[in-house]
Amino acid sequence: MANPTLLILAGDGIGPEVMGQVTRVIDWFGAKRDLAFEVEHDLVGGAAYDKHGTPLHDDTMAKALEADAVLLGAVGGPKYDALDFSLKPERGLLRLRKEMDLFSNLRPAQCFDALADFSSLKRDVVAGLDIMIVRELTSGVYFGEPRGIFEEGNERVGINTQRYTESEIERVARSAFELARRRGNKVCSMEKANVMESGVLWREVVQRVHDADYADVELSHMYADNGAMQLVRAPKQFDVIVTDNLFGDILSDCAAMLTGSLGMLPSASLGAPNADGRPKALYEPVHGSAPDIAGQGKANPIACILSFAMALRYSFDQGEEATRLEQAVEKVLADGARTADLMGPDGGTPISTSQMGDAILAALDASL
Ligand code: NAD
Repeated sequence: MANPTLLILAGDGIGPEVMGQVTRVIDWFGAKRDLAFEVEHDLVGGAAYDKHGTPLHDDTMAKALEADAVLLGAVGGPKYDALDFSLKPERGLLRLRKEMDLFSNLRPAQCFDALADFSSLKRDVVAGLDIMIVRELTSGVYFGEPRGIFEEGNERVGINTQRYTESEIERVARSAFELARRRGNKVCSMEKANVMESGVLWREVVQRVHDADYADVELSHMYADNGAMQLVRAPKQFDVIVTDNLFGDILSDCAAMLTGSLGMLPSASLGAPNADGRPKALYEPVHGSAPDIAGQGKANPIACILSFAMALRYSFDQGEEATRLEQAVEKVLADGARTADLMGPDGGTPISTSQMGDAILAALDASL
């Protein structure tokens, strides 16, 4: 069988630096685990604008639609701030998400024991935390019509519309239930059914999908405001949380901070499965292009490396190898390896981006 294909779009700022370490990890799996990929590199964001005058060339878009998975670094930077909105680096990323129809955004919040003191919460609240927020990404109030700022009498009114169809709710609910079966088998669905009709429909459809096809998964419902409180009170009560675009935006950032540094957070955005059962998929760190540290070898590559671990698990059904990679990361952190963003108040000497890559490769070797 042909090797699976990976399209790598390193992007701007620290994107190419962190992706350089991911490429070493991908090569390691090819050499040591007989898990080879056909890797192709292309441009996105400012880098694509510099070469083609557009943040995502049509050919790159076509390659992304063909690839078994896309890995993205980061886009953006001050150099592009004055560009027209339609040419800004971020438009490249938005086009990928839109044309790949990536409706299910997976944001894990995992707290490695060695970093538990980085959280703003107490160690015992977050140590060992491993939850996943599934956010609907292509509909809801960020897209609903009518929208705009209108004249009404002698003043203006700003309008956005929260809108969800049953099929939009159903597909993201299925994605959450499937995910839960690979993890702790528990889903908590969050909305505001007490005050929003879209929330009433959300709750009804999630329950219906559950009862019909996922009765083996434990399902609970929670109002999203209570969900926000529970996330900082006792986050370990959750396994998978499924929620809409707006609540997911806020709750996933809130959950991210449970774990400490931005340099540690991976994400996946998944679409509908192909004929072979593999979803359209884009994997990327949560952080941006970090222009303040770009080109200095200071960036933490772990968020990007853990995004590749997610690709192993969710696109290539290599859960054991994903765990191997996650455990290698956990080991280097436990051994005290720290990039600058992970330095505690006690100081110490930070290691560089490539030294963090070296340490993770050594830990992978040691895992054999
Ligand atoms: P940012 O995530 O780039 O940086 C925020 C802070 O975190 C900075 O101090 C940065 O140095 C630090 N940081 C981020 N990632 C790090 C890493 N891997 N290792 C060590 N430190 C890290 O967010 P920002 O500064 O608000 O945005 C900078 C640019 O990135 C902007 O152009 C923005 O539009 C873009 N951006 C892109 C994405 C994306 O590509 N998905 C996401 C957010 C922001």
